[in-house]
Amino acid sequence: MAEVLVLVDHADGRLRKATAELLTIARRLGEPSAVHIGPGADRAQVTLAKYGAHKVYVVDDADAAGFLVAPQAEILAALVEKVTPAAVIIPSNAAGKEIAARLAIKTSSGLITDAVDVRAGADGIETTQSVLAGSYTVTAKVTTGTPIIAVKPNSVPLEASPAPGVVEAFAVTVSDAAKAARVTDSQPKKATGRPELTEAAIVVSGGRGTGGDFSPVEEFADSLGAAVGASRAAVDAGWYPHAHQVGQTGKQVSPQLYVAAGISGAIQHRAGMQTSKTIIAINKDEEAPIFELVDFGVVGDLFSVLPQATAEVKKRKG
Ligand SMILES: Cc1cc2nc3c(=O)[nH]c(=O)nc-3n(C[C@H](O)[C@H](O)[C@H](O)COP(=O)(O)OP(=O)(O)OC[C@H]3O[C@@H](n4cnc5c(N)ncnc54)[C@H](O)[C@@H]3O)c2cc1C
Repeated sequence: MAEVLVLVDHADGRLRKATAELLTIARRLGEPSAVHIGPGADRAQVTLAKYGAHKVYVVDDADAAGFLVAPQAEILAALVEKVTPAAVIIPSNAAGKEIAARLAIKTSSGLITDAVDVRAGADGIETTQSVLAGSYTVTAKVTTGTPIIAVKPNSVPLEASPAPGVVEAFAVTVSDAAKAARVTDSQPKKATGRPELTEAAIVVSGGRGTGGDFSPVEEFADSLGAAVGASRAAVDAGWYPHAHQVGQTGKQVSPQLYVAAGISGAIQHRAGMQTSKTIIAINKDEEAPIFELVDFGVVGDLFSVLPQATAEVKKRKG
């Protein structure tokens, strides 16, 4: 069975959840091989094996870490040449998409970004993407070279499937050109205790309807272990940090559950959340466009609805 390379998304071996999702997808296409670039592979190996990595290619030297994305693309290109994989699966985040684009050029291959589903079709690997602000669903296929596919977080439910996870060191000489930009400092983001917005299984977002008071949104999010998002109107008003903006010019999220509170549902907001599996809106205007795309809608004042929902969740959790 052909190998499928999966780029490991990690910080010093601490894996982002997306990596396990990519391995789950890779198992549909062939034999997953994780590619761990930088330090911490020992720490990551157990989880990589748990989610189906038959092999873990480890590239851990000074030339591989400490730079921006270019060395990672060169390393993947060298592995593509070595193992001729059935596909290369990469997380569809800002860094992942740049690595994928560079890799596509180096290997003369087709590239699909922001896939929300990947499967082995009768005639090769097929992907699904949600495009044009979520108004079209596209089925795509790479027709040249090795399929390089960047997959959005939360696209598939996690399924463990233990595999050997055999570590194999891989040495590559990274070019000087790829080392033109060095990371000189990095600091962990201040912990909020909440999950990362793009990775969270549940996102609760607030909009202009909050009037600047995000406390009911945060309390409901915390009762569910959810991340907090915001519309552009809310972040532009300075009510919530820009890093939490969901939408066309903000973060793209695709959680299992998205709750929009006091958000009208403008096309630019939809563009960032429309692929969520279940969508609930709370809005006091029953004509609000957000109600066109919801699975469940509550017509009401968020300052009354959210506290009741929070109390009910807490009661049921005991
Ligand atoms: C190029 C471009 C890019 C953009 N990118 C983004 C983006 O990435 N993300 C984004 O979100 N927007 C983006 N926008 C802005 C977008 O067009 C909308 O202006 C914005 O999404 C509106 O935010 P909102 O729904 O919070 O506010 P509004 O449209 O003002 O809606 C507020 C809603 O809250 C309801 N409400 C009021 N009070 C309550 C209450 N007490 N309880 C319940 N409901 C209440 C109202 O009925 C209303 O429906 C972009 C715009 C442009 C032009």
